[in-house]
Amino acid sequence: MKFSVSSLLSGLLLCTFASQAAPHDNMNATLWYQTSAEFKASAIQTYQTAALQLPHAIADKNWTALPNQTHNYQQLPLAIIVDIDETILDNSPTAAQSVLLNAGYDPKRWDQWVALAAAKAVPGAVAFVNKAEAAGVKVLYISNRECEKRAGSNESCPQKTDTLRNLKAVGITKIDASQIWLKSEQQDWSSEKESRRLLAAKDFRILMSIGDDFGDFLPDVKKNITPEQRSALVDKFQDYWGAKWFVLANPTYGSWQTILKQPNRQYLQSVPATK
Ligand SMILES: [Mg+2]
Repeated sequence: MKFSVSSLLSGLLLCTFASQAAPHDNMNATLWYQTSAEFKASAIQTYQTAALQLPHAIADKNWTALPNQTHNYQQLPLAIIVDIDETILDNSPTAAQSVLLNAGYDPKRWDQWVALAAAKAVPGAVAFVNKAEAAGVKVLYISNRECEKRAGSNESCPQKTDTLRNLKAVGITKIDASQIWLKSEQQDWSSEKESRRLLAAKDFRILMSIGDDFGDFLPDVKKNITPEQRSALVDKFQDYWGAKWFVLANPTYGSWQTILKQPNRQYLQSVPATK
């Protein structure tokens, strides 16, 4: 085996670079999500609070979680709207994979993950949805998992089959494909979920919305909006949080991040300058 001085030097340079390389942007967020007792406790806290509200939501015929559900809804059957990713299913292994590969989001890797149907449940989620179904409340899963053809499959939406399999695998006992509404399954089902919420409101009194993204609760909050405008909307719907709307923490991705302009450090609010 022969070593040249130049190859030795470039090897040393590579080692130096590797040891000094900045950690992946999502390292801490993913560690928090996967290892912290704090995340687990906060998810359980969210679902236990929702479970405590459920009897009140069922009993009060004027209770609806959709601000625009205003017309003849009092006698409709009952439903709860939940998001799937980082609300019911924990996909943090894909975030960990990106950190380890030092890569960004990759739709191909994501679809491979969906096909595995191997996501674990977010803590507290399964007990809650099973409780709701047992109380006669239908759970509607409105998700931005996307329907698309997959090589080697004849199905128009193999992602829906996988998702149903995964939801059953984590222990959700009462669920069928009609309760899962994926992005692009119908023509106007875009990543903006409002059209699907409005459709649900035609047939059900919506008791609660549960999600990890602000877009799981309100329309027009995922683009062309500032953090300050979103913050004002949180205040405007103050009475909904913890009563009709339940939010799961997700520091690993979301519209909270994609609405920020670059360089995103411009949003950091530091201490005032001192003399
Ligand atoms: Mg989600």
